[in-house]
Amino acid sequence: MIKLEREGCPKELTREVREELTRLYAENKDRDVWNSPKIKKPLKDALLRMTRGKCAYCECRLNIESKDVTIDHFLPKSTHPNEVVQWENLFPACLRCNREKKDYEKRIVNPCEDRPQDYIGLDVRNRYFLRGIDRDGVGKNTTTAIKLNDIRRVMVPRMIEWEEIRQRLEEISDDMQKDGYKTKYRNRIEVLMGKCLPDASYAAVKATNMLDDDCYQKIKNFLKDMGKWTDKLEILEQEMKSVSFVWIRMV
Ligand SMILES: [Zn+2]
Repeated sequence: MIKLEREGCPKELTREVREELTRLYAENKDRDVWNSPKIKKPLKDALLRMTRGKCAYCECRLNIESKDVTIDHFLPKSTHPNEVVQWENLFPACLRCNREKKDYEKRIVNPCEDRPQDYIGLDVRNRYFLRGIDRDGVGKNTTTAIKLNDIRRVMVPRMIEWEEIRQRLEEISDDMQKDGYKTKYRNRIEVLMGKCLPDASYAAVKATNMLDDDCYQKIKNFLKDMGKWTDKLEILEQEMKSVSFVWIRMV
């Protein structure tokens, strides 16, 4: 989960449309009023722009054409029917996260209003396992409610994507040790950093692992020594830091 910036409400979701759809929903709770043809496309487009095409919660990549892209009601529509088409209450989510979260009532992290890093950290022993870190248990509520540590559906995909990056880092580090500096090596590290930025799937977990990786540090130090650590690389690293979690050691 990473911090998201919400743009203005799509113009199609006017007050009149909102009131009409909210009334229709009040009459019949089985109506998917948020999928009304009047607003469906602009609403989904705006939500997916906000998350850069990802699930707002687990950060998996959402295929716009797929049925798996759902609109999640942050405050459940069952208990907050007046928020059923309220722009600020809507997030794009994968079907899995939407179903898991469902009518969960306790406070969880709102990626538009909270900094997820203030509530969630990464476990040092299992580098793909999210842990709640705040005293009020908001982070823990979040990982529990949405099952953000589901092994098959969330942790393994995170691990596969990170491991692919880690292996490439090792190769670059070895190549640099052998051949010395070459521009193509710097380009390769730039590409790998790009896979850990907010646009990428599972960016928070991948960026946290990348920043802590021995080979990454070795490559960075090598480039610095050679005077080849550019402003662009520095900016990419800052972007990774902006989405990364803290490491948590459980005692
Ligand atoms: Zn998800």
